[in-house]
Amino acid sequence: MKVFKGNMIYTKEPKRFEILEQGYVTVDDAGRIVSVSKEAPEGIETAHVVDFENHMVIPGFTDLHLHPNQYPNDGLGYNYELMEWIENYATPVNGLYKNEQITRRIFSALIEDLWRYGILHSVQFGALDLRTNDILFEMMIDSGLYCYLGKNHTDYKKDRHEVETTQESMRCAQYLIDKWEGKSPRVHYIMTPSFAPGCTEEMMKWCGEMSRKYKLPLQSHLDENKKEVGMVLDRFTDCKNYAQVYQKYHMFGNDIKTVMAHCVYTTEDEIQALRYAGVYVAHCPHSNCNLGSGIMPLRRYLDMGIKVGLGSDISAGHTLNMMDNMRSAMEMSKVLYVEEGEMPLSTSEAFYLATKGGGSFFGEVGSFERGYLFNALVVEDDAVASIGGHTLEERIERFIYNGDDRQIKQRFVEGKELKKPVFEI
Ligand code: FE
Repeated sequence: MKVFKGNMIYTKEPKRFEILEQGYVTVDDAGRIVSVSKEAPEGIETAHVVDFENHMVIPGFTDLHLHPNQYPNDGLGYNYELMEWIENYATPVNGLYKNEQITRRIFSALIEDLWRYGILHSVQFGALDLRTNDILFEMMIDSGLYCYLGKNHTDYKKDRHEVETTQESMRCAQYLIDKWEGKSPRVHYIMTPSFAPGCTEEMMKWCGEMSRKYKLPLQSHLDENKKEVGMVLDRFTDCKNYAQVYQKYHMFGNDIKTVMAHCVYTTEDEIQALRYAGVYVAHCPHSNCNLGSGIMPLRRYLDMGIKVGLGSDISAGHTLNMMDNMRSAMEMSKVLYVEEGEMPLSTSEAFYLATKGGGSFFGEVGSFERGYLFNALVVEDDAVASIGGHTLEERIERFIYNGDDRQIKQRFVEGKELKKPVFEI
């Protein structure tokens, strides 16, 4: 049993911060929270007490959507829109991964940055080829961070110039599932059809079947960009909308835990379908802005109780800094406020999306509530805030707006400090 003492800040619900000034979180040997209190818990005299003094203690972040193999493209090519960006940046970068040392160096940098930014949980859209994914599975398990990772399936191209064959693609996923699923309690496989325009029907059907057979979650993209939506409707003429394509192949929620990235151009029917099927939406505001895709109707989703988390969408998004991603979500919502009168996203709501909202995809993480894992970050104020006499709510707001990784002093996973991952390359 361990007792953590400090300024505990979290969001049980989006509308407001829970703030315990010099509060106590008691954690059992498995790293689960057994109590959260303002007063010292019983038995504190004999417990192992970790005192964070005046620092803020917050839940670890979740990045619900990123493409690890695209990390070298960070900040590049944003004069393009989505389909041109894929052609000119996302696809060519795969060539780098023919060299194993380069692969390991890129992933080492990525994993170190995930750790630095306090992204203790992430949902990762893997590469196409087997060896690259194999290496990333191995390195993610070694890192001690949580993730879902899956091999990207892209076996369809309109001009029939296949990126990979359907059979090869299936074989690769089967190999990775057999090798890695169940190997670690923190790293799991997720079925990963790239998006409807990139997959054959045979592949999508198979992905849905595999999810069910192995009880695996599934991730893909939905309604990101107008041209992409047009491509889907032109090809799948029997479907009324984009989401229906995924529904047709049983890849859309219900008994399969599903996350769809973007969801910018959802129709009324699709919004109802997202809610009904309990599909998670990964909101990727930086990406939607960088590629000029559009603004997701976030307020609508929140009002309807649709599950939403934040995604950096590395590297159509340019940073893993989750504070920056929260700011972007708030800024985009304010554009919609000006244009359409939608209530903008508040600071506590943005924080909720980056912690409990996305974290719930992993189970009981992202909050300090009884039964939750103590996956937490210890945050120091910037130099000015620490002398400014601010309240704790002001201090967390300031961190969200001005903060970066330098202020994250420690990371805890299951009640134990997680040190910086070091890879020998
Ligand atoms: Fe993406």
